[in-house]
Amino acid sequence: MPVDKELLRKLPKVDDALKAAEARGLYARFPRRYIVETLREAIERRRSSLLMGHTVDISLEAVLPEAELELTRICAPSLRPIINATGIVMHTNLGRSGLSQDAINNIMAVARGYSNLEYELDRAARGERYSHITRLLKETTGAEDGIAVNNNAAAVIVCLAALATGREVIVSRGELVEIGGSFRIPEVMAQSGAILKEVGSTNKTHLRDYERAISENTSLILKVHQSNYRITGFTSEVSIEELCALGRKTGVPVMHDLGSGCLIDLASHGIHGEPSVRQVVQAGPDIVTFSGDKLLGGPQAGLIVGSRRFIDGIRRHPLLRALRIDKLTLAALEATLRAYIDEQAALRDIPTLRMLLEPAASVAARARKLARLIKGVAATVNVVADATYSGGGALPMQQIPSWAVSVVPLNISVNTLETKLRTEPPHIIAHIRDASLLLNLRSVSEHEVAPIASKLKETLK
Ligand SMILES: *Cc1c(COP(=O)(O)O)cnc(C)c1O
Repeated sequence: MPVDKELLRKLPKVDDALKAAEARGLYARFPRRYIVETLREAIERRRSSLLMGHTVDISLEAVLPEAELELTRICAPSLRPIINATGIVMHTNLGRSGLSQDAINNIMAVARGYSNLEYELDRAARGERYSHITRLLKETTGAEDGIAVNNNAAAVIVCLAALATGREVIVSRGELVEIGGSFRIPEVMAQSGAILKEVGSTNKTHLRDYERAISENTSLILKVHQSNYRITGFTSEVSIEELCALGRKTGVPVMHDLGSGCLIDLASHGIHGEPSVRQVVQAGPDIVTFSGDKLLGGPQAGLIVGSRRFIDGIRRHPLLRALRIDKLTLAALEATLRAYIDEQAALRDIPTLRMLLEPAASVAARARKLARLIKGVAATVNVVADATYSGGGALPMQQIPSWAVSVVPLNISVNTLETKLRTEPPHIIAHIRDASLLLNLRSVSEHEVAPIASKLKETLK
């Protein structure tokens, strides 16, 4: 097709488009800079189309809605809430742990203005930021002292830097883990300036391996939680109790990076294999580190508990300043820890714990409710058993029984359905398995069921 010179001339002028945008109320909703840019681009796209001989609607009635859609897209927050229907409760890519209402309230209380972050109200003197959580950490873990940094990776680094720079740290070859996001024990060790002294083999490490490795230059015995994998078969590892006994005998400090530290006894709730932080502290290590947003169910943070002497050394280390926890996180962490003073309150109020420990029958009831709410959509809908995992580097071998709503659309493909749920708000993340979309209800809260149902009804008319 020949290029239509007449139409090219008739392309809207940016100034006219801006006047129309003002009349449409866009100036009240979007920054002028973005409006100009977006309109210019929309007009340019039409010019290119015309030059290529394509037919295109060049009227302002077409340009403006297109620009408005684009403006809405670019001005929307990039970080936004989503509904996690994967069933994985501690999903690192989806923000790991939602916060309790008390934690959210505490953030709001201190976010707007000033706070006594590092100020002692009684003495009108400079205070310590960690003081807001130290007592709670002592009460909930049984440790002598405790502080918090940005995340558990930071906790491990600052502990190693404070206790082991330039000296050897003994670690079992079965525990040289990579957590993801490039947190690998050998590399963290190198970063902190400590020297890694590997002992044992991949599948078996004995107490005598540690004993033999201890020398003048040993600064620390480090035990690392295997988190996201397990070595099974012909294996043995040395317990934290045995390592602490060895540490006492030889005068070498012992540190345990617990990863996903839990503050309640999960075994009494039928989940085995994750000792509580209190149980680990009872064994007597000098330092224990764990995450704030894994099994603890709080904000992203790294908790360091242990003996006063060692925590004091870490308090004075210059790296601590670089890794320090901010006031909003601290507000959420304090409220989360406080919930654990009463275990029943923690189980009820902390979303991560509640979701992980919810009886399967209760998840099934939520799945049936969702299925009922979407009756009549253009799809085959079934409630199916769909076991899941906790995620967050905890309990990698432990399947958690769960229930899902399986949706097989009649008029669109399952991929199209998945894409629409994921990309258009409210964003819903779910897995496809064998041509059906599985919405697993273990990680879905009660108040999210109705929005999911509406979205499915709208998408599957
Ligand atoms: C998850 C984990 C970390 C890292 O913790 P973040 O809070 O994600 O920084 C470190 N060590 C172990 C054993 C872990 O499981």
